[in-house]
Amino acid sequence: MLESINPTNEELIQHYAVMSDNDVIRILGQVNSTYHEWKQTAFNHRASLMKNAAKILRDRKDEFAKLMTLEMGKPILQSKGEVEKCAWVCDYYAENAEKFLANKEVKTDFAKSYVSFQPIGVVLAVMPWNFPFWQVFRFAAPTLMAGNAGVLKHASNVMGCVLAIEDVFLKAGFPENLFRSLVITSKKVEMVIRNKNVQAVSLTGSTLAGKSVAAIAGSELKKTLLELGGSDPYVILEDADLETAAEICVNSRLINGGQSCIAAKRFIVVEEIYKMFEELFLQKMKSKKMGDPFDESNHLGPQARTDLRNELHDQVRISIEKGAKLQLGGEIPNVKGAYYPPTVLTNVSPGMPAYDDEIFGPAASLIKVKDEAEAITVANATSFGLGAAVFTNDIERGERIAEKELAAGSCFVNDSVRSDPRLPFGGVKESGYGRELSLFGIREFVNIKTVCLK
Ligand code: NAP
Repeated sequence: MLESINPTNEELIQHYAVMSDNDVIRILGQVNSTYHEWKQTAFNHRASLMKNAAKILRDRKDEFAKLMTLEMGKPILQSKGEVEKCAWVCDYYAENAEKFLANKEVKTDFAKSYVSFQPIGVVLAVMPWNFPFWQVFRFAAPTLMAGNAGVLKHASNVMGCVLAIEDVFLKAGFPENLFRSLVITSKKVEMVIRNKNVQAVSLTGSTLAGKSVAAIAGSELKKTLLELGGSDPYVILEDADLETAAEICVNSRLINGGQSCIAAKRFIVVEEIYKMFEELFLQKMKSKKMGDPFDESNHLGPQARTDLRNELHDQVRISIEKGAKLQLGGEIPNVKGAYYPPTVLTNVSPGMPAYDDEIFGPAASLIKVKDEAEAITVANATSFGLGAAVFTNDIERGERIAEKELAAGSCFVNDSVRSDPRLPFGGVKESGYGRELSLFGIREFVNIKTVCLK
């Protein structure tokens, strides 16, 4: 049995019966059969169904937003924004897939030679709970538009969202077995990867899960795309607009209850303006209200699960034991629910979880450095490389640091890192490999085929 527990009051929402191995094998066979029909369909047919999916998402926005907030505690306005973003990615690939996958002629000695982008089959998606709709749609929209089929193993605590997503594709008119969810635990992922009807895997989740899935897929020579954890550094230089920088940094730390792979996690501030930045940052963190995620005036709901909240608290506690200074929060509130308050740690240094590890919750690490050079060294002194940002009023300086110095998949100047269907998204180092979104995303799960005619 899988359970959806409401993190706001710790009450059971629903039980879900786990599928048997035979159910899973049967579904994989059905999805693979459907793939062989689907890959013959024209782009305009696929696009019209994807447009239907976008419309259903917009029409049922409030219902889906409520479900996400109920299952994982995301503030309701952010849930609504997430549904709209899913509709956007569906529209984006409906409108651009054909262009992205059009044949590319290459002049050679042959009468004709070109590159063609052909679908590869059934792709398994293993997804996390933190953006329960967005993670799935940013995978599904390009995958289905490319002519592939999909099976989804979602996080065990958001099964209500899983069934709702499956329903969106069905109601949009996609064939019954083109996109199916598997109600299974992570232990069964290996069996799915090894199944002959599955050709590739996309995983969004922790680095540990990514390494395990990649090792299994590697032993089967099946391609993987990995979107893993992050410990995004935000570098604040002496010439930055501190008021704006502090506002953006606080909002980026707290988005989605701090449970975003690309949330700002480490704030690396040069000493000349450190004190001023710390004051502004603290003031703004203090002003953020935690409470019922259905109340639109609250900035922060509960964490998604009590065990995750407790792990977060351990990371904060151990960092303090090792010498970090607690400036705000840091206590589990005496209320029902997986709540954890906005928390600020200073004096953060190597050897502490707040410096070395991903902090997946509303706890910020402030790190003081001498100058730009040290800021860049500290920013890159992490096993992760998902996103990074730099704040400076010298735009050329910011651009140089973003483009050449910071080791991350997405680097932003004077703003927070975010995903956008038009731009590639992904990481380097232990944040994973491969790219989602944009032209690059839709070309991950295709056979880039060379065709030559004499
Ligand atoms: P997680 O524990 O790794 O779970 C993610 C998914 O993988 C779930 O469906 C989970 O299933 C499954 N899973 C876990 N261990 C597995 C294993 N050994 N083999 C196969 N599947 C496994 O991560 P999470 O706690 O849900 O999500 C938070 C993490 O995801 C953070 O590190 C965050 O940074 C990362 N993330 C990255 C991105 C990105 O785009 N780079 C986006 C969002 C989140 P169960 O639920 O059944 O355990």
